[in-house]
Amino acid sequence: MQTAKKQAEVFMSNLIITNDGKQYKSVNGFNGSIGIIAGLTGSTVLSTQLKKHTLKPVCIKMTKLYKSVPFSEIGYPAIEKAKKIAQLDKKGVKIVNAADINYDEYLKNLNMIELNTMNKSICNRLLSLNGTDIEGFKKLPFKNQFKLLKEIMKKHFQAVHIKHVIKGNVSSYMETKTVVTNFNNRGLALTHEIGHAIHHNSKGLWKNIMIKYKKNVPLLSAIFLTAALIKRKKADGEGYKNKFDKATTFVKNNIGLISTGLYVPTIAEEIHASVLGNRIAKQIYSPELYKKTVKITKFGALTYIITGIISGLSAWTAVKIKDLIAKPKLIKNSDK
Ligand SMILES: [Zn+2]
Repeated sequence: MQTAKKQAEVFMSNLIITNDGKQYKSVNGFNGSIGIIAGLTGSTVLSTQLKKHTLKPVCIKMTKLYKSVPFSEIGYPAIEKAKKIAQLDKKGVKIVNAADINYDEYLKNLNMIELNTMNKSICNRLLSLNGTDIEGFKKLPFKNQFKLLKEIMKKHFQAVHIKHVIKGNVSSYMETKTVVTNFNNRGLALTHEIGHAIHHNSKGLWKNIMIKYKKNVPLLSAIFLTAALIKRKKADGEGYKNKFDKATTFVKNNIGLISTGLYVPTIAEEIHASVLGNRIAKQIYSPELYKKTVKITKFGALTYIITGIISGLSAWTAVKIKDLIAKPKLIKNSDK
């Protein structure tokens, strides 16, 4: 048993005494920070390489398949039929061809200007579009400043997103109750996005759990990874101080599985959107187009699964590197 004096000493210093009497010195804050930076750098390099060699080839195959089907092969009658089967009119959901969207008009309607370079004049223009200026902004209570910035950032991300949709890089079901895809080079994404539209406009599990949850995956991943990185590596034989210590140690030791696990509901929702979409595709397309649609959705599911696995591997690597740099140092083998 440790005496109260010894416990106090241990608490005040960075000394760790394990159950079997070994003494370790925990690393100082500087080494810990270097460890975190090295861990994050290493995991970013790894995830970039993994994406390049696993995700990219799948995306290239998908794009090739999309591009092999011009709009004339899909045609308006199929779109109308899809709308009817999914009862989109009843749900107030529109289908928009992204090729018809004028980006500048879209920004105007969004009350936005493009944010390529953030400088004072752009900030001023942006704020003026939202009914204030820098001086007026400074006078706002903090709560309102935060609200306004949040609104501007939301519009900014929407503008960036729509640019990609117009180009045909992505397709989307948007909160404005719109299914949007560029029919010239990404028409076959229509039915999968209708699957998402069905989820968003249902009352069941998919809407309440998956869709609200899905948005928060990046934030949740960041919270878990931060907790795992900050947590100090336990010395061999070191006990837990309390329940919180035990829980955070669990997060640290299982960060790879946790990070991948966070993607599971997203993967499930994506696959289910494809199942719903493919059912519609079977009714509106020729057998050949249907076959292509199914193949694309299989590639799509694969991209989400790969993303989940890469997320786990990178988080695991970040924590491993940090621990290698910032692990407790053995200073005394036994105090007996
Ligand atoms: Zn999707």
